[in-house]
Amino acid sequence: SAGVVTLGESMAALGSPAAGPLRHAPHLTLSIAGAESNVAIGVRRLGHPAAWIGRVGADEFGAMVLERLRAEQVDTSGARIDPGAPTGLLIKEQRTPDVTRVQYYRAGSAGSRLCPDDLAAPAAGRLIADAAVLHLTGITPLLSADAAAAVRRAVRLAAEAGVPVSLDVNHRTALGTPEQLREQLLPLLPQVGLLFAGEEELLLLADAAEEAEAVRRLSGAVPELVVKRGARGATLHTPDEVLHQPAVPVRAVDPVGAGDAFVAGYLAGLLDGSPPAERLRLGCLTGAFAVSVPSDWSGLPSRDELGLLSAAPGTTLR
Ligand code: ATP
Repeated sequence: SAGVVTLGESMAALGSPAAGPLRHAPHLTLSIAGAESNVAIGVRRLGHPAAWIGRVGADEFGAMVLERLRAEQVDTSGARIDPGAPTGLLIKEQRTPDVTRVQYYRAGSAGSRLCPDDLAAPAAGRLIADAAVLHLTGITPLLSADAAAAVRRAVRLAAEAGVPVSLDVNHRTALGTPEQLREQLLPLLPQVGLLFAGEEELLLLADAAEEAEAVRRLSGAVPELVVKRGARGATLHTPDEVLHQPAVPVRAVDPVGAGDAFVAGYLAGLLDGSPPAERLRLGCLTGAFAVSVPSDWSGLPSRDELGLLSAAPGTTLR
């Protein structure tokens, strides 16, 4: 199978290595960012196939996005180069040691011009039909009307092929209001088998004041609902059970990307054929890896590194 197939926007990412206002940063680091490609990389590192579908510009940042993904052995055969718009850009400012500010330059980007025809291309259509799971986020449908239509098309293709659909709410305030989020995501839920949401996102999506009420509303629609709780771990709701997994205690350096890392671990567990408790455990472990290093995705573990977080401080491996 094509493993986990994802659809979305990946961008160039600039980061300031030292804390303080960005205007005083003497230099910036350059990498790539994108929730869906983070998940693809995480799944791939855990040994399962992963593919990313999306658009980049015909520019150096676009070439970098595709090169990084290929270097991680993510299948980019469904990706397109769009000469009509630039690759989007994300800038991560470490404003204080504890506060990260993220700013986007993505309006009108190549990635936001994703459209249903991109999925009609043979490579992309074949990837979705062959996928073990189609993974989507709430970011993509808020990029543009075309991108929203592309998400709906992808869900339809998956449904026709009997491919389960996974969705991470991933609400980005800069991209839309909670109403817009609900308008895009609620109609997809009947086709979604696995839903990931942060605690606040859960309330937003269900338009509920309390978690119990939100879970009641959403778990009626979605058979597998995972609530991500940051340093408090994660909870899985299925029709049969409620399982809680505490977080793995780590020295947290950078919370950005923990959610994507968690999803990558959870989906890899699903592809391993592991039972729910084991998927949750792997998700919490990969989430903990992500918070323990400054970058969004470069610290994601391979299989043989999964035990590293239980090593004592100062451990040297030779
Ligand atoms: P983001 O959007 O910032 O990437 P998120 O809100 O989607 O994150 P979180 O709940 O913050 O997701 O993190 C996902 C998972 O990562 C958590 O369920 C937990 O298992 C792990 N995690 C997050 N923060 C920590 C932490 N400080 N220590 C250990 N594990 C953590």
